[in-house]
Amino acid sequence: MDQKQITVTSPLLPDLEEFQGMLKEIWDSKWVTNNGRFHKQLEKALCEYLKVPYLSLFTNGTLPLLTALQALRITGEVITTPYSFVATTHAIWWNGCKPVFVDIDPSNCGIDPDKIEAAITPHTTAIMPVHCYGKPCDMERIQSIADKYGLKVIYDAAHAFGVEVNGKSVLEQGDMATLSFHATKVYNTLEGGALVMHDAETKKRVDYLKNFGFAGETEVVAPGINSKMDEVRAAYGLLNLKQVDEAVEKRHQLAIQYREALRNVRGIRFFDDMPGVRHNYSYFPIFVNAEEYGMTRDELYFKMKEQGVLGRRYFYPLISTFSTYRSLPSAAPENLPVATRIASEVICLPMHHGLSEEDVKRVLEQIVR
Ligand SMILES: *Cc1c(COP(=O)(O)O)cnc(C)c1O
Repeated sequence: MDQKQITVTSPLLPDLEEFQGMLKEIWDSKWVTNNGRFHKQLEKALCEYLKVPYLSLFTNGTLPLLTALQALRITGEVITTPYSFVATTHAIWWNGCKPVFVDIDPSNCGIDPDKIEAAITPHTTAIMPVHCYGKPCDMERIQSIADKYGLKVIYDAAHAFGVEVNGKSVLEQGDMATLSFHATKVYNTLEGGALVMHDAETKKRVDYLKNFGFAGETEVVAPGINSKMDEVRAAYGLLNLKQVDEAVEKRHQLAIQYREALRNVRGIRFFDDMPGVRHNYSYFPIFVNAEEYGMTRDELYFKMKEQGVLGRRYFYPLISTFSTYRSLPSAAPENLPVATRIASEVICLPMHHGLSEEDVKRVLEQIVR
C-alpha cells in the first residue's frame, strides 16, 4: 500500500513559534501550575467564547465528570446512555454509584427521553446524558423529567464545544456540564477539560475539589482530587482558541461535501443540520443498513482500512457490553435495541481541519457505489 493513510482525526496544533514565546514566559515566571496567569486567562477566554458564566479548567475530560458527581453529592443510581465513550459510565462507577442504562433516540443518538421515566427507582438521584457527536439532546424534556422527580442533570458535553441552540450554549443546561479538550476533539489542549456551572459558589467548591479539597493554606473541606491544568497546556489552549472557529468552518465545508455525495447512496444514513443549532461538526457518523447497502458495516470498515481510509466504529461496542457492566439488568441488549443496532451500523468518517480535496475524494470512493 503506497498511499498515505487518512486518519479519522488530527489534532489542531497552535503555531509552534508563538507557543515557544509563551513557554519562555512560563520559564521566566517559574509559575508552572496552580492557577497561574495563563490558566486564569484561559478560564476567562473560554467563558466568553462559550457564553457561559463560570467554568473550571481540568487536566482532562474524565475528571470533571467524576468531580461533578462529587460536587452534587450524587449517590445511588444514575441514569445514563450506553452509547458513549466509556468514561461517562466509569465516572458513575468511580463515585460508588450504579449506572442504569437507557436506550437512545436514533435521530440524535442521545438518551431517549421517552424511556427515562421507566428506569427511575427510589434510588435514582441523577441523569447523565451525552450530547453525542455534538448533537444536542432533548434538553427540555430531560429537564422536565428531572424536575418532576427531583433529579440532578449532568451533561457529558465532551463533544459539544461551542454548540448552541437558538443562540444559547448547550453548556448552560442541567446542573453542570463537562467538556473534554483531548487531542482528538474539535478544540484541544493536548489533554484537558472543563466543568461548567451556574454560580460563583459552585465554582469555588469545584475549585476546592480539583485541588485536594484545599479551601485555604491549612483547611481541607472535602476529599478532593488533583485535576488541575498546568500553565503549559493553558498557554497552548489560549493559542488554539484563536483558530478553532476556522477549524469548525473547515469541518462544516467537509460535512457539506460528504452529505452531497452520500445523499443518494442507498443504505447509508447520516445527520443533517438541526434547525436553530450551531453545530461544531466534531464527527461525521454514517449508519450502514447492510441489507440496503449490500455490505455490512464491518465489511465496509475493513475495506476502507485496506485502502488507507481509517474510519472509526464510534461507538462500538456499547459500554453496557464491557465486563464491568454487562451483568447489570439494564445492560441487557433487549433493554437497548436501538443502541445495539446503531452500534452495529456506525462508522465515523475522517473529519478534521487538515483533510484535502484529494482525501475527501478517496474517502468517498470507498463508500459511493
Ligand atoms: C473524550 C470523551 C470523554 C473523556 O475525555 P478525556 O479528556 O479523554 O478524559 C468523556 N466523554 C466523552 C463522550 C468523550 O468523547
